Amino acid sequence: MAKQEDVFKKVISHAKEYGFIFPSSEIYDGLSAVYDYGQNGAELKNNIKQYWWKAMVQLNDNIVGIDSAIFMHPTIWKASGHVDAFNDPLIDNKDSKKRFRADVLLEDYCAKLEDKAQKEIEKAEKRFGDAFDKAQFESTNPRVLEYREKQSVILKRLARSLENNDLADVKALIEELEIADPDTGSKNWTDVRQFNLMFGTKLGAASENATDLYLRPETAQGIFVNFLNVQKTSRHKLPFGIAQIGKAFRNEIVARQFIFRMREFEQMEMQFFVPPGTELGYYEEWKQKRLNWHLALGLGRENYKFHDHEKLAHYANAAADIEFKFPFGFKELEGIHSRTDFDLSAHEKFSGRKLQYFDNERNENYTPFVVETSVGLDRLFLAIFSTCLKDEVLEDGSERTVLTLPPALAPVKAAILPLMKKDGLGEYGEKIFNDLKYDFNVIYEDKDSIGKRYRRQDAIGTPFCITVDHDSLTDHTVTLRDRDTMKQERVPVSDLRRIIDEKTNFRNLLSKI
Ligand code: ATP
Repeated sequence: MAKQEDVFKKVISHAKEYGFIFPSSEIYDGLSAVYDYGQNGAELKNNIKQYWWKAMVQLNDNIVGIDSAIFMHPTIWKASGHVDAFNDPLIDNKDSKKRFRADVLLEDYCAKLEDKAQKEIEKAEKRFGDAFDKAQFESTNPRVLEYREKQSVILKRLARSLENNDLADVKALIEELEIADPDTGSKNWTDVRQFNLMFGTKLGAASENATDLYLRPETAQGIFVNFLNVQKTSRHKLPFGIAQIGKAFRNEIVARQFIFRMREFEQMEMQFFVPPGTELGYYEEWKQKRLNWHLALGLGRENYKFHDHEKLAHYANAAADIEFKFPFGFKELEGIHSRTDFDLSAHEKFSGRKLQYFDNERNENYTPFVVETSVGLDRLFLAIFSTCLKDEVLEDGSERTVLTLPPALAPVKAAILPLMKKDGLGEYGEKIFNDLKYDFNVIYEDKDSIGKRYRRQDAIGTPFCITVDHDSLTDHTVTLRDRDTMKQERVPVSDLRRIIDEKTNFRNLLSKI
């Protein structure tokens, strides 16, 4: 088995074993691509939300946050284009009866070609050693050039066919390349069909006059339809932004890769409203700002890259993804889109209401342009969790599993661990717990050996362990163990709050952005 797969399996099992993520409805054998966050997962997720919300709403005096409803008027999805165009091309294998996204089959095929190109490069690197000129090799080696050219031809043809809704050609391409069902090897495919990703539901008691609704597939539209409400009540001048965190639902055809692609997930989106003509400047600015926000987490610059879109969605005049190196390779984590005035104009048209802004300086009314930043909360959770999960071999040869989460995000900030419950140590520990609990999420634990308790806290990423022993009762000091260095120091109980705060405060992250 490939190493990457091992890492990913370990991430999934660790998330379950330590109360971060459980398969939904597990006692009924689960529900595909739906997950529940457990006691530690909910804390970590809430902390990630806070980091985003504070960075957007608290640090920017021209961004406000809202919380709009999941149910929305059905015409909104007509105006936004989701009813007509929020589709994925799907294809079924007639033998295995499995369903695939036709575009993903082709993209996976290209990823394999790229792997082959990378192998050639690695081989040459080994052969030539220090004298190896990678750029020159990539631009001249016939095999690498051939692999890359083939990818480019396939992806261009796929983009063209999808744009023209020529699904027969997408199937033809799959057949020409002799792409087989990855599990069974069968090449017996159905035609390619479009499949709308929105979930439908009904509003109203009597079935005959119930209204057909959709569960929102993105949170952004809740911001657009409230643009005037927020602008008028907040009295913000352009440019200003509206942020929102909330659930979104997509009936994903191929939902795998754990919480990377779910059918119910959460998005953190911000729409920045700007005067027409200035949008591309703000777009570049937000690209950089969002990357800096990610980098402040300390997961490593090498794990991020931008992917600028060549083929733009119908509403955009510029778009890029921030991709992250997940355990299964670089994939989209966040999208930054210059959405023009598409959404507001469409809602003006469909609702018959004006959604315009009067610009005092320009002395004119106009429909604002929008730059959007949209990050998946669950994907971010996976990025952080999988990168921070580490197996370490210690000096004495023993091993430990540690989750090196940024301390501000850790579910539990400190664990209070009396060496034993008796002799008054338990009570002393409880006193510390009862004092710290007003400021931090802390836990008290007196079962098992101290070594085992340390390991459990390492595995959920707790920055500090506080050990109470007999001396504590008389000199009012405790042993403070640091998760990362495992160093232990004796500190006065009266300093605990300050020390924990210094390490776990959100300021540590926010001031690095
Ligand atoms: P993808 O190409 O991976 O399907 P997308 O381009 O459709 O994603 P957007 O519509 O731009 O995604 O949504 C913004 C963000 O929401 C994405 O960058 C991603 O982090 C998150 N997201 C989208 N779909 C899902 C999903 N099914 N599960 C979890 N997160 C998702």
